[in-house]
Amino acid sequence: VSSVSFFTSLNMERTYIMVKPDGVERGLVGEIIKRFENRGYQLLALQLLTPTKEHLEQHYADLKAKPFFPGLIQYMLSGPVVGMVWAGKDAVKTGRKMLGETNPLASAPGTIRGDYCIEVGRNICHGSDSVESAEKEIALWFPQGVADYQRNKSLTQLIYEN
Ligand code: GDP
Ligand code: MG
Repeated sequence: VSSVSFFTSLNMERTYIMVKPDGVERGLVGEIIKRFENRGYQLLALQLLTPTKEHLEQHYADLKAKPFFPGLIQYMLSGPVVGMVWAGKDAVKTGRKMLGETNPLASAPGTIRGDYCIEVGRNICHGSDSVESAEKEIALWFPQGVADYQRNKSLTQLIYEN
């Protein structure tokens, strides 16, 4: 099985997950990485950086008209963020489930937001909401590109049936 048919046959996706400044400051980077690793997802890219205002406005362009937009940008500018790309079956939707609801108080215990935060404006993490926006966000945050590799075959078979 070539890597391309393996990737497509399992409905493999890539998603952009980001630890926001409060999550970085609170030392939750490892915890968030651990959950995606433990689940079986594959890390394709990882970076800590302090984004510019313009970069964040592009990332959140869809929310520009919202009343909370200026506060959101200010929050996201409060320190460095850790961005990553995770790949695997149904990574976008499952990644969102692992994060929890936008409002942490509506997030079930066991989710990242449900376990580690309280307020929507301090919800410690970001996850792409569709395959299309994931690919857009990956291109925005990793213009240099991300890794493209296949994991050890027997490891893969411990995680995926086919
Ligand atoms: P997400 O995809 O779950 O992160 O939610 P959205 O894409 O709708 O919003 C992006 C981010 O803006 C959220 O993660 C919150 O940090 C923030 N946000 C969304 N809605 C609100 C709101 O009603 N009030 C405040 N203060 N922040 C919000
Ligand atoms: Mg969103």
